[in-house]
Amino acid sequence: MAVTEPMSERINNRFADHIKDLRQQDLFRYRRVLEGAQSARVRLEGREYLSFCSNDYLGLANHPRIAAAAKAAIDKYGVGAGASGMVTGHMQVHETLEADLARFVGLPRAMHFASGYQANIGVICSLAGRGDTIYSDALNHASLIDGTRLSRAEVRRYAHADMAALEQSLSEAASGLRLVVTDSVFSMDGDIAPLPRLLALCEQYDALLMVDDAHGFGVLGEHGRGCLEHFGLASERIIYVGTLGKAAGVAGAFVAGSDALVENILQRARTYMFSTATPPMLAAALLESLRVLSEEAWRREHLRALIGQLKSGVAAYARLLPSQTAIQPMVLGANAAALEFSARLKARGILVPAIRPPTVPEGTARLRISLSAAHSMDEVNALIEALRVNAPRAAAEQAPVVLDKKG
Ligand SMILES: *Cc1c(COP(=O)(O)O)cnc(C)c1O
Repeated sequence: MAVTEPMSERINNRFADHIKDLRQQDLFRYRRVLEGAQSARVRLEGREYLSFCSNDYLGLANHPRIAAAAKAAIDKYGVGAGASGMVTGHMQVHETLEADLARFVGLPRAMHFASGYQANIGVICSLAGRGDTIYSDALNHASLIDGTRLSRAEVRRYAHADMAALEQSLSEAASGLRLVVTDSVFSMDGDIAPLPRLLALCEQYDALLMVDDAHGFGVLGEHGRGCLEHFGLASERIIYVGTLGKAAGVAGAFVAGSDALVENILQRARTYMFSTATPPMLAAALLESLRVLSEEAWRREHLRALIGQLKSGVAAYARLLPSQTAIQPMVLGANAAALEFSARLKARGILVPAIRPPTVPEGTARLRISLSAAHSMDEVNALIEALRVNAPRAAAEQAPVVLDKKG
């Protein structure tokens, strides 16, 4: 082996200091290693836990029919797509999936992406660029924020769900195309964006409206078609993004909208063009997932019942953020307080993640409880009881609150 010079102390210190800073601010993160399938009960460190951590809202991540569809697709298509969708990676099963996704959400055309992160960046950068103006909710998902940054458009952030602030901003002069971008269900708060009002403003100011329905697709609306069904909205100025790794239980994402908009995205989205198409077995699994979403409406009904059960079960002693969705956060304030509460629940065999900055704003660290149709009412009762026994008293008061180290 060749003798090499050791790295300079300056470089080593830079990275060691970074880790030290994270630990000091209670921001260090580590990954849990799951020893089996994603489910209401998961195994880790050799022990079984009741989990309220996943976005598998309908319990489809380990659904036997969906898994069987993936296995059958391997026999037919192999495991890899082998090329970008623009070259030879786009197979019949991807084509069928796009048609079924468009039909499912009731929009003219859909285009599949490998992930929601890639979809959001690809879509925003395809539609807006230098000289255009993007209006972005302050609590939008990181992938939307990164998309707006990469687009080089002017970005105007408005206070979370503040329609007066957005209108004020839209009423000011702006260059180029106007694009309003929002989560439908805010991923760390669980509240739903006022989409009818957003659409009305977009009509008034001739803007496009891009909606990221990562936490609504499959769950919201009578048939699980997402936020547009929930509100009964339709407009050719809507660009809809749904992700397929959450309620749909698999992986990937799609954009849907008018033929002209989707064609423009297909022609320009670099995160699609310069990335290998998804394994065909995933597309086959998703086709089956769409069928299950339609046929097993009981999953949405059961999830709705669990949400009501949790909210009324904790109302007397703890304050959750006002959310009607499967995302039910309890804001604790300090990072250490959220970590400690999460650790106490873990000791009782219940997993609820502590969410800290930069995922949420400074001083609003929280437990993010997420419910799934895979949970039973007994399991939600176990969570309610564990929250009652362990809830720091301050969590019952106005959120956000800051607790001291001992909670
Ligand atoms: C999870 C999420 C994404 C990213 O989707 P992936 O398919 O997981 O990459 C995008 N937007 C929101 C709001 C999300 O919660």
